[in-house]
Amino acid sequence: MAKQMLEVMKSVHGKPKPEADELGFGTYFTDHMFVMDYTEDQGWYCPRIIPYQPITIDPAAKVFHYGQTVFEGLKAYHGSDGEIRLFRPEENLARLNRSNDRLSIPPVDEAQMLAYLKELISVDKEWIPREVGTSLYIRPFIIATETKIGVIPSYAYKFIIILSPVGAYYEEGMDPVGILVEDEYSRASRGGTGEAKTGGNYAASFKAQERATASNKSQVLWLDGIEKKFIEEVGSMNVFFKINGEVHTPMLNGSILPGITRKSVLELLHDWQIPVHERRISIDEIIGAHRSGTLEEVFGTGTAAVISPVGVLQWEEKEYVINNRETGTLASRLYETVTGIQTGELPDPYGWTQTIATKEVVL
Ligand SMILES: *Cc1c(COP(=O)(O)O)cnc(C)c1O
Repeated sequence: MAKQMLEVMKSVHGKPKPEADELGFGTYFTDHMFVMDYTEDQGWYCPRIIPYQPITIDPAAKVFHYGQTVFEGLKAYHGSDGEIRLFRPEENLARLNRSNDRLSIPPVDEAQMLAYLKELISVDKEWIPREVGTSLYIRPFIIATETKIGVIPSYAYKFIIILSPVGAYYEEGMDPVGILVEDEYSRASRGGTGEAKTGGNYAASFKAQERATASNKSQVLWLDGIEKKFIEEVGSMNVFFKINGEVHTPMLNGSILPGITRKSVLELLHDWQIPVHERRISIDEIIGAHRSGTLEEVFGTGTAAVISPVGVLQWEEKEYVINNRETGTLASRLYETVTGIQTGELPDPYGWTQTIATKEVVL
């Protein structure tokens, strides 16, 4: 792919910035966005940073009819040392291309995208909140824009990156959340798109999410699509169980989203010499561990909430309280370590973070 000049068109008037305590998650967006187009003839072309604005798309665009789209989610942090850090962004771009491949979307140049992303963040750096627990959420996504009713992959695409200053993902913050084990609907199944970060997986999950909300639970715990027996993951997080001092998490089997937080937690646990097992875990086994008093902690991992302790599991009308609805020591240690590395409060022995030059990046 030819290296192309990034065009930067700055907005004249910035929007007012929200106060840290009213951020919520994904409500406010910064002054600029990144856009790039693709056609089969031209490849990816015309990369540009422009004022944040609505886009005009033909109603016949394929994304509306066939859901050909992928997305990513990562964060930038403002450290108390003044540095802006990204957490393992090369992993997000590699996963974006894996999702692209699954959805028959052409790949992007990962190194070039990372440079564009850094430039966009640099342009909107004043939007990165500085308070503890806040960050800048980054949402890259690709949509199929060819205007044609016809069930074959699109000929044209748009790649867009938007930025949102955020606080805690859950209203509960780091307090344990309640989870409903879903026994009717399934999220994904082997050979499907469960491994890809694509909108359709979420559209198909809302029905179950509504049931969880009606039972006063914040998320769904998904079981495998075939036997409804083995644990897959939580709504937008991977899931970990601490049983008798050892940690267990479902192995990546083709229908689970391979989380970057999951991968980082596994690397930390190995480093801390805590026994950890990636394997098939049945819901019966977890309920059994709860009954025998060996289920010590349950927590989810994901970019949005980082580490999210689970205080209650609901399964077949029964509620199972975990660790007295308190945040466990392992979940706390992981949270402190991961966020410490992300914000630069702790050293980064793994080389997980990349800093962004706060002056204009020359491409
Ligand atoms: C994004 C996502 C995760 C978490 O992945 P991270 O890379 O850790 O943010 C887990 N499950 C699903 C379904 C997701 O979409």
